[in-house]
Amino acid sequence: MKIEVAKRAGFCFGVKRAVKMAFEAAESSSHPVHTLGPIIHNPQVVEELDRRGVRVLDRPSDVRSGTVIIRSHGVHPKVLAELKARKVRVIDATCPFVTKAQRAASTLRREGRQVVIVGEREHPEVTALRGYAGGDAVIYSSRNRVRLKPKVGALAQTTLSSEVFSQALCSLAARTPDLHVFNTICQATQIRQQDTMELAKRSDVMVVVGGRNSANTSRLVELCRKVGRPTHHVETEEELQAGWFRRADSAGVTAGASTPEATVRQVVKRMRQLTKTNRNQENEKH
Ligand code: SF4
Repeated sequence: MKIEVAKRAGFCFGVKRAVKMAFEAAESSSHPVHTLGPIIHNPQVVEELDRRGVRVLDRPSDVRSGTVIIRSHGVHPKVLAELKARKVRVIDATCPFVTKAQRAASTLRREGRQVVIVGEREHPEVTALRGYAGGDAVIYSSRNRVRLKPKVGALAQTTLSSEVFSQALCSLAARTPDLHVFNTICQATQIRQQDTMELAKRSDVMVVVGGRNSANTSRLVELCRKVGRPTHHVETEEELQAGWFRRADSAGVTAGASTPEATVRQVVKRMRQLTKTNRNQENEKH
């Protein structure tokens, strides 16, 4: 079985940067180091950081001393203010593309617009964006149609699919006479999604590697299934099953933006072993 890994799979620029900052802080600090929420949606990396003394805290009020790292999703301005008031050292690992989206939200608010954020209501990046978008900001939902003000501004969660954003914009354009849009979807996300779909089209089966709580990984799974390929979502190589590859001549592997390259390599290695086992079993039968 031919195994092909998507051209761009695994850590994106923003995640790589945040993880590097966390490991560097763990190395250089003699005081406690914390992250507000897991640094990335990948349990293996979070465990490795924990072994090096980086603890995950949920709320800014939990941070009593030392250093706190803000993850790539960014935080609500109130959280930043609270951390500053607590006089702890803040390392801001907000991805520059997320910062750009936060600035876009502030600009739209300053223009006197009601800001509509197209994204997942509970996602930490969206929660943070709301803080920049003003009190009347809403999260777009195709089902729940809120009444919009005459002047509207729209932007997207950075990891949203372009298709979902376009659909939302069409619907908003029909409901408001004055719409200003910032396309805040990050290139890394778009490129990964395109690579994944192309790979899925030429593969018999797809394996997507990444945390189950990672929104962008789940989106890659959705896209592969949309192309009509049997798709398996795994966090590590231990979850792979030989049966998935028994009838396949080719398999594609892709990974979410929060998946380390080492994990992708382990998955590919295990897939090769399983293919060999399948082949040996076939030969024994004949
Ligand atoms: S997906 Fe894009 S916006 Fe999100 S962390 Fe990665 S580079 Fe930054």
